Amino acid sequence: MIERNECFSNLAAGYLFPEVAKRRKLYQEKHPEAKIISLGIGNTTEPLTPHITKAMSDYAKSLGTKKGYSGYGDEQGLTELRKKIADVLYPGMASADEVFISDGAKCDIARIQTLFGRKTPIAVQDPAYPVYVDGSVIVGAAGAYKKDGYKKVTYLPCTQENNFFPDLSLIKPDSLIYFCSPNNPTGACATKAQLKKLVDFANRNGCIIIFDSAYYAFIRDAKLPRTIYEIPGARKCAIEINSFSKLAGFTGVRLGWSVVPSSVKFADGTPVKNDWNRVMTTLFNGASNIAQAGGLACLDKEGQTETKALVDYYLENAKLMKEALEGKNFKDAGVKVYYTGDSPYLWVYFPGWKSWDIFDKILNDCNVVTTPGSGFGPSGESYVRFSSFGHRADVKEACKRLTKFVL
Ligand SMILES: *Cc1c(COP(=O)(O)O)cnc(C)c1O
Repeated sequence: MIERNECFSNLAAGYLFPEVAKRRKLYQEKHPEAKIISLGIGNTTEPLTPHITKAMSDYAKSLGTKKGYSGYGDEQGLTELRKKIADVLYPGMASADEVFISDGAKCDIARIQTLFGRKTPIAVQDPAYPVYVDGSVIVGAAGAYKKDGYKKVTYLPCTQENNFFPDLSLIKPDSLIYFCSPNNPTGACATKAQLKKLVDFANRNGCIIIFDSAYYAFIRDAKLPRTIYEIPGARKCAIEINSFSKLAGFTGVRLGWSVVPSSVKFADGTPVKNDWNRVMTTLFNGASNIAQAGGLACLDKEGQTETKALVDYYLENAKLMKEALEGKNFKDAGVKVYYTGDSPYLWVYFPGWKSWDIFDKILNDCNVVTTPGSGFGPSGESYVRFSSFGHRADVKEACKRLTKFVL
């Protein structure tokens, strides 16, 4: 028989979201009358906007005509969309040939690991989006074998003590650094000065940064950088991964992009972009042309106005949740709400509580589902993530219940 790929036995159990779902289901079975509201999952809830929907349905209809039909497109993506992304989002910072269109950021994060082989040390923020580590383990990178004790993964604690920006001196030279800003789950958004430190560190120490900016559209503070290429030197060391999922509600439509500047190089001087092009043209066959028609519509004037309003809706939800979570009942218990207004997530610290215990208590007393911070990494212990993705009426009802919550 064929031996199981040992990389898979090195994965930590996929524990977080299945466990959340299990506890919710158990509670519902015991309390069939409870109207449970989820402020737990990072999934969009509001419908696609009219201009963008029309672009996609028009395109889908045209595929049914001789004139409008097209088969495989370029594996790197529609030239027009690559150009539009470069022009609208990276003016003077990246060119169209450095933009690659994909079926989403998660998929790119997974595929990009094939570029770096198993010897490259990896550094991740702690807490972090689970794909960075799990994707590395699956390709056998990150010293993933158990006998190595995962020693090639360096966790970078991001806590209230360091303002959710890690101590970079922990990172080994020649590492791949995963960095997510605005961050999932902490909601922290790195300043220009912080990203400058990161970029300078990477350039000095031979590192490459995988910068996940899937939530850039939530940044409202004009002083905060919306792409890492606003930082001088980033074109030498940073790859940006991005997505229409949180920007335009494309979580189900599936469309993302990566930016790989020609000047990011391997030790032997080969541009990383050449190998990325090879991966995208070999292991991927292009994003859906219907989704790409929607992507183009997102980036024209009407689309930009619509997506801004869509994101504003979630930001307003977050504001309501912040008010509720900063109520007297929480303040008196020493609860701290970390939220700057530039992310869909509120990161909330419950002193003296384990994440799963406070999760259970909120589920039990308020019938509200959250996400335990410890599920994103050891430094998430005692925190809970509240997500602002939800219908306004549900968010308001959840806030009402939280206001009466007794800790
Ligand atoms: C939601 C999310 C993404 C987006 O993934 P898609 O595959 O494009 O839907 C990427 N990174 C983080 C941190 C996310 O939370």
